[in-house]
Amino acid sequence: MAKVKNWQINREMEYPYEEHRPKKQWAIVFDLNKCIACQTCSIACKTTWTSGKGQEYMFWNNVETKPYGSYPLAYDLRVLEQLGAQEWEKQKPYQGKTIFEAAPPNERVVHFHPKDEDWMYPNIGEDDCTKNVPAGDHLELPHDKWFFYLPRTCAHCTYPACLSACPRKAIYKREEDGIVLIDQSRCKGYGECVRACPYKKSMYNPYTRVSEKCVGCYPAVEQGKQPMCVQNCIGKIRVMGFINPPWKAREDNPIDYLVHKKQIALPYYPQLGLEPNIYYVPPIHADRKYLRQMFGPHVDDAIERYKKLKEDTKTQGLLVLMGGTDKIMHSFKVNDRTAFGYDEKGEEVVSSPLVEPLIERPAFDTKVGAIRNNTP
Ligand code: SF4
Ligand code: SF4
Ligand code: SF4
Repeated sequence: MAKVKNWQINREMEYPYEEHRPKKQWAIVFDLNKCIACQTCSIACKTTWTSGKGQEYMFWNNVETKPYGSYPLAYDLRVLEQLGAQEWEKQKPYQGKTIFEAAPPNERVVHFHPKDEDWMYPNIGEDDCTKNVPAGDHLELPHDKWFFYLPRTCAHCTYPACLSACPRKAIYKREEDGIVLIDQSRCKGYGECVRACPYKKSMYNPYTRVSEKCVGCYPAVEQGKQPMCVQNCIGKIRVMGFINPPWKAREDNPIDYLVHKKQIALPYYPQLGLEPNIYYVPPIHADRKYLRQMFGPHVDDAIERYKKLKEDTKTQGLLVLMGGTDKIMHSFKVNDRTAFGYDEKGEEVVSSPLVEPLIERPAFDTKVGAIRNNTP
C-alpha cells in the first residue's frame, strides 16, 4: 500500500496506488436545506442514461430520506457497522481507520455485496420520521421528529474504492476532469467495484454482464455544461464545478469558496477515506450526533456559519447563482446588489439580483379604471 495525503481526514492514509491528482476535479455542492425530494434529478439521469435493458433498477442519481431511507438498503449502516466505533476529535486528524486501512487480509477494502432485493426499494423510508424501518442499533436518536433529503450521485472520489478493487484495471480516473469511468470493453462483470464502493454507486447490469456507474455527464462537461441532474434540479440546490485541494483553493472559484474558504459544505462519510467529491451544506434542523457521524466533527461550525449568512453578501450571492445557468461556473463575483458567474474564458454566463425587487401596485388601476383584488 502507498501512503497518500487525504485532506478531508487531515492525514496520510494507505491506498493501493500512489497519490495522483488530475488537472481538474469534477465536484458538486448540494444545499440540503433546500432539497424537496421531487426526484427530478433522479428522473433526469434515468431518462438520459439508464433506460436500457438490465438498467431497470438503476438510479445513478438517487434521493433518500435520512435517517431511514437508503438505496441500496442500509448501504451506509452496513459499512459503518463493519468499521465499528472510530475516533475523530475536532481540530485533530481522523484517528480511526479508513475502509482501506481496516480491510480484511487479502482484501483491498471493508466491503459487502448488496443482494438483488436490497436494490428493490429506492424510496424506502421516504418522509419517515417514525422509525418504522429497522435502522441499526448505533442510531440512538434523542427524538424521532426530524428527517432530511440526501441526493446522491457517484462522488468521483480522489481515492476510488471501485478503482482500487477492480482486478481487470477497467476503472480509470480522467486526467482532464477527474471523472471516474468503467471501460466497458475491459470489464468482465466480476462485481468487485459493486462490492468495494461504500456508497454503492457502481452497479451490475445483468443483461450486458458488465458493471456501470454515473459517468458525471462527461459529454456535457466537455461542452462546458453542468450534468443533467444539476441542470434539472427544481429546488436549485446544486452547483457543479471543479474543486482544488485546499492548498490550491481559489477565493473566486464557487466550489473552493463553499468548501475551503467559507467551509459551509462538507463531504459525506469522509472517515471512509475516499476523498469523495460531492459536498453538502448540512441541514440545520437535524440531530447533531447523526450529522457528525455523516459529515464529520466540523459539521457544527458549518451549520453556525450557514445560519449567519444574512450578514454575508458574498456567500448569499453565490447561493442565489445556484441553478441559474446550465453552464459550468469557473469563477464568480458579488457586489452590493448582484451576483455574477463566469465561464472558463471569463465570460459572464449568469447574473442574479441578491434580492428580487418588490413591486407594490396601487389597488385602483387607473389605466383600466378597475380595482385589483387577489381573488382568483
Ligand atoms: S463513489 Fe463509489 S463508484 Fe463513485 S468513484 Fe467513489 S468508489 Fe467509485
Ligand atoms: S452526473 Fe449525469 S450520470 Fe451522474 S448522476 Fe448526474 S445525471 Fe446521472
Ligand atoms: S431535483 Fe433538486 S430539489 Fe429535487 S430532489 Fe433532486 S436535488 Fe432535490
